[in-house]
Amino acid sequence: MTILDGKKTSNDIKDEIAAEVAAMKERGEKVPHLAAVLVGNDGASLTYVGSKVKACERIGFESTLLHLSEDTTEGQLLAKITDLNMNDNIDGYIVQLPLPKHIDEQKVLLAVDPDKDVDGFHPVNFGKMAQDMPVFIPATPFGIMELLKRYNVPTEGKNCVVIGRSHIVGRPMSILMSQKGNPGNSTVTLAHSRTKDLEKFTREADIIITALGVPEFLKADMVKDGVTIIDVGITRVADSSRPRGYRIAGDVDYDEVSAKAGFITPVPGGVGPMTIAMLLKNTLLARKRNREA
Ligand code: NAD
Repeated sequence: MTILDGKKTSNDIKDEIAAEVAAMKERGEKVPHLAAVLVGNDGASLTYVGSKVKACERIGFESTLLHLSEDTTEGQLLAKITDLNMNDNIDGYIVQLPLPKHIDEQKVLLAVDPDKDVDGFHPVNFGKMAQDMPVFIPATPFGIMELLKRYNVPTEGKNCVVIGRSHIVGRPMSILMSQKGNPGNSTVTLAHSRTKDLEKFTREADIIITALGVPEFLKADMVKDGVTIIDVGITRVADSSRPRGYRIAGDVDYDEVSAKAGFITPVPGGVGPMTIAMLLKNTLLARKRNREA
């Protein structure tokens, strides 16, 4: 069994990007600049945005955090988005989700300039991805593809079951795994909460990608020997033995399933760290595209 080590791989990728940024600086070029918009004070969002900004600093990017108050109106947020779209100094930006309930998330995502949409959430970028065009791939699916590539996990002709159909993970993963290419060329089943007899599909699967957010959902009796497991799930589960009072659980019962798996991502330390690395990679890509434009 091989552990797909997202922590190590993401550090390798960050080192590669840092080397490119250092070379840019040496040539007197502008370095990539990522901005993040955060509305309100949701604890998890504050942590996520904080680690994105820190990661930027570590690899030599410029970063800007726009932290807006919980009562920011939709109009005020859209005005900020327009400013970011117009600001030539900013190569890419993200709007941290979820947004407060009084703001229409879809309206905001549609307002983001697709050329600065380093999260890859804009429908223009999603459509381009579906048609194999060069694009910003959403960071989590991009990170999974990069892990599969760097560990030479065989995907061609394999049966791949993706569980979860969200716009940011499951649905794009199903598209990427079925695309021509390596990784890719898999025969994909996209399963979700209305799927009947899920085990029938997972037991036949060579690759299972879980993105449901149900702790330890996938059990050993649901998979076959040698299966490749990509666990995207991140859920806080109460655990009084931990200093913080919780532990982070994936969608896979790791102890059971890893005994049967050929490749597996741990949680934490698998897909999670890859997400930030690929956001940085998209920002570098945005800078390069701006330079060439
Ligand atoms: P979501 O929460 O928007 O949707 C969950 C999906 O799972 C739905 O499509 C639903 O149909 C499906 N589902 C729920 N219960 C099911 C069941 N019993 N059987 C089959 N399908 C079922 O999904 P999301 O935003 O993609 O998040 C999924 C998980 O991935 C969460 O734990 C989230 O925290 C995590 N996540 C991790 C990263 C990362 O960087 N590692 C990034 C994004 C999301």
